[in-house]
Amino acid sequence: MNRNIHFDQLPNRYLFKEIEVRADAYKTLHPDAHLLRMGVGDVTRPLPAAIIEAMHQAVEELAHEATFRGYGPEEGYPWLRQTVIDQEYTPWGIDLDIDEVFISEGAGSDLGNLSELFLPTNCVAILDPSYPAYMDSSIMAGREIIPLPCTIENGFVPELPKQKADIIYLCLPNNPTGTVLRRADLQRWVEYARTNHSIIIFDAAYEAFIEDPDVPHSIYEIEGAQQVAIEVRSFSKSAGFTAVRCGYTIVPKQTGLNAMWLRRQCTKYNGTSYVAQRAAQATFTPEGKRGIAANLAYYKQTAQLIAGGLIAMGYEVYGGENAPYIWCRVPQGYDSWSFFDHLLHTCQIICTPGVGFGDAGQGFVRFSAFSDRKDVEEALKRMKTIV
Ligand code: PLP
Repeated sequence: MNRNIHFDQLPNRYLFKEIEVRADAYKTLHPDAHLLRMGVGDVTRPLPAAIIEAMHQAVEELAHEATFRGYGPEEGYPWLRQTVIDQEYTPWGIDLDIDEVFISEGAGSDLGNLSELFLPTNCVAILDPSYPAYMDSSIMAGREIIPLPCTIENGFVPELPKQKADIIYLCLPNNPTGTVLRRADLQRWVEYARTNHSIIIFDAAYEAFIEDPDVPHSIYEIEGAQQVAIEVRSFSKSAGFTAVRCGYTIVPKQTGLNAMWLRRQCTKYNGTSYVAQRAAQATFTPEGKRGIAANLAYYKQTAQLIAGGLIAMGYEVYGGENAPYIWCRVPQGYDSWSFFDHLLHTCQIICTPGVGFGDAGQGFVRFSAFSDRKDVEEALKRMKTIV
């Protein structure tokens, strides 16, 4: 047996594990401390009643011989795939075939698994900073990585790579910077991919947070994108499904990869839970939509509260307008981890060190709007005492 030695290139600990280790160490020394968690990007609002009701009904069906179900189709039930097209793509003028929609257990696994469609010799361009899954799964596969720095200097809009990138991960709005690519920027990436025969893996996990009309919700709003882009979406952040687990991935036939992905899924994925798919379908009902909109409004207001509070204290902040994340420059004399420690030890606040998302994230921390409102208010009060 030969171990996959590429794993040795991974950071020792997954970012959020390291944060937990430091938070736990602090809690052991200060058992009475009330830690204010503004770090992890996990939803906090309960699911709307219509979605809970749909799950109850689905469970009930499984309890009776007449309505019981076993394995479903690997690519998802047609009723959910068609609803996704009708509700999420047709209204934007995007024409998709039902065979191009694959229901998943969420974006995380597909984002890594999709790279199985490409030879290990294919290099991959990744936003720096970005969600760690792209980098980690590319390292595990032993790929050459081209970082695409997103910095204050370039307005967090990455430049096109000078060398040919075979695979390009784009995330819009980006986690952790909370920044976006406008229509003209995304157009340049689609043109680059068409010219260079690259594939864009477009992570739209935060699409529901977009407010700016000049920011596309889907890459397929850009002409020609169906030839060069796979789009990965999730109900996690839009509908609060981080525990339920459901998402979908669009693999257009024009990419030449659709049949390969179906083949891969049939072998390695036995389908998304029936209960989760019924829950996902309920997100598109009028009551489901109302409940989701209320939760999204809550997070968006929390994002404004955090950004406004930090700006009032003199911090330099980005994001938060089209995303649930606020990207905050650390004060002079600190780096990402030392400011994280400073906030933990002086204010008992947990944020996320920007450098954990890539080298270009050094000197920043991320605050998450998926936080309890009272905790956010208290955190801002405590931070005022240290400025
Ligand atoms: N993509 C991005 C950018 C994320 O931030 C996350 C989770 O935080 C995911 C994908 C994974 O989402 P899911 O819960 O659908 O696996």
